[in-house]
Amino acid sequence: MTSGTRREWLRTMAAVGAGSLADALIPRALARAAQQPTQDPTAAFRAQIGAVPIQTRQLGENLTLLSGPGGNVVVLHGSDGLVVVDTFVAPAWPKLQESLASLGGGAGGAGGAGGAGGAPVKFVINTHWHFDHTDNNAPLHAAGATVVAHANTKRRMSEPHHLAVLELDFPPSPASALPQRVFTDRYTLEANGERLELSHVPPAHTDSDVTVRFEHANVLHAGDVYFNGRYPYIDGNTGGRVDGMIAASDRLLSRADSGTKIVPGHGPLATRADLVNYRDMLSTAADRVRKLKASGKSLEESIAAKPFADLDGDWGSGRYKGDDFVKIVYLTL
Ligand SMILES: [Zn+2]
Repeated sequence: MTSGTRREWLRTMAAVGAGSLADALIPRALARAAQQPTQDPTAAFRAQIGAVPIQTRQLGENLTLLSGPGGNVVVLHGSDGLVVVDTFVAPAWPKLQESLASLGGGAGGAGGAGGAGGAPVKFVINTHWHFDHTDNNAPLHAAGATVVAHANTKRRMSEPHHLAVLELDFPPSPASALPQRVFTDRYTLEANGERLELSHVPPAHTDSDVTVRFEHANVLHAGDVYFNGRYPYIDGNTGGRVDGMIAASDRLLSRADSGTKIVPGHGPLATRADLVNYRDMLSTAADRVRKLKASGKSLEESIAAKPFADLDGDWGSGRYKGDDFVKIVYLTL
């Protein structure tokens, strides 16, 4: 049947009801295929994230937070050129290019958004290897930026991966997307009157995590060590550990004061007090699952025990629900 008649037919079936009758009459796979004709799950996930609009918020005189299609992005701007922390997902590239151009960055590319005149993007910093933080490395490097990251970001991006819980597969990134400059412990950058301190935190969300401190603006980019107001993802397959997340939160807290603006990898801008709440939630969650595991409970039995029932109201409204987070913690203890 043509797509037109299929649409008609699906509309009719939807009118019949979204309940058991329609379920019985339309094979599930067919219904799914009608919605997503060609995409594999990883492409669909990228497209879903990439469709989110970019929101802009000033963090300081020459520091801007961009939120939406991927991990939170922070842009330092000025006459020295732009420094961009994280790069959103690939489908968001036109929007990111536009945002950078409006901040004075000539991010290059066809159509030349800001290509004429604007200060170039000098540096890109990756907080870790995940696609929703590194996808636009390649076009930014092609436009002249040097990509700086932990050595494990380069290593992990060079390998194929399966992300547990999300059940998504990622092929190795192309060479053009890999960082050109890597470090293992600490790296500092100075530009536009600001001093950036990049610090590796031992295995936490992954084994490639970097936090970025903007000294003068008193802003801390936590990367995915911190999901504000929601359960975080922890990538056990590339070295992530829940206890490392707690230790990394403590390290972030030791670098923050009551005036520090903390940018989480995901979620709204946070204060030190917000990070304290998150750290306490992680600690409670880890203790409870550790006890279940120590008493011999399997992953399935631990999920069935609903150990986070009282936490879900505050933390379970993001991508990962209580049951998902039991699994995430269980697999990374
Ligand atoms: Zn991540």
